[in-house]
Amino acid sequence: MVFTDMFFLVAYTAMGLLIGSFLNVCIYRIPLKKSVVWPGSSCPKCGKPIKPYDNIPVLSWLILRGKCRFCKNPISAQYPFVELLTGAAFFACARTWGLNPPTFVNTVLLALLIVLVFTDYHHQILPNVLTIPGAVVGVALSPLQVFPFYSGVLEVKAAGLLGLDETPVAWPWLGALFGALFGGGLLLLVATLYKAVRRRDGLGMGDVKMMLMVGAFLGYRLALLTIFGGALLGTLVGVSLQVAGKATMQTKLAFGVFLGIAAAAALFWGLPFLDWYLRGPQK
Ligand SMILES: [Zn+2]
Repeated sequence: MVFTDMFFLVAYTAMGLLIGSFLNVCIYRIPLKKSVVWPGSSCPKCGKPIKPYDNIPVLSWLILRGKCRFCKNPISAQYPFVELLTGAAFFACARTWGLNPPTFVNTVLLALLIVLVFTDYHHQILPNVLTIPGAVVGVALSPLQVFPFYSGVLEVKAAGLLGLDETPVAWPWLGALFGALFGGGLLLLVATLYKAVRRRDGLGMGDVKMMLMVGAFLGYRLALLTIFGGALLGTLVGVSLQVAGKATMQTKLAFGVFLGIAAAAALFWGLPFLDWYLRGPQK
């Protein structure tokens, strides 16, 4: 690895840790409908503003041993965890795509997913202020995204129908738009079926809008994988909790949490997985 790549990797990861600090603010304030930019961070217990030198990602929490400098009340380990997770997300993107546009596009997606997952976990909501602009940004940034996310059988079919020899230049826009409608539409269908079978709401419109966003960023194939992966993960966790006696059939799990994890997995491993899966066992 050459020096510039190494430098970019380290700098981008450090930036991720700082952005993680901001994501903590978003996770805490968006459900309360408070501004995420003003005022600066303060202790949730005593309200004292946090000094800049106590706001160093991860390190400050360790130095203060997870307690507020003033009131000594414990500060949730979720704060350094989200910072580390965001740092890891930035690292993974920089490692995968280097100093190229998809690194930027996919860190935007992962940052949105992190806020959505923690907000859904705590409040069982997926705020529209994140999912709707997220979907728009996903479509807008699609020309900078990993191209194969939007290509595949459909692209070839569409080009054929239009009598084109080459993929149209506008394909990423169309692919992202189709991915959004496909992801959101499929989840809407699943939610409707779930309601008909179980006779209660399991999936909300928040999940549908979250898939609109995921589909815009990842295209229809990875959106499909995300829904399958999320459902599988949700079922595994739900059954495990029931076996452990910590949940019943009626316990509501935040599906957005599982969709978020599945979307991140699909981002990094989705295409290799589909290649392997579609090649079949015989070859
Ligand atoms: Zn305090």
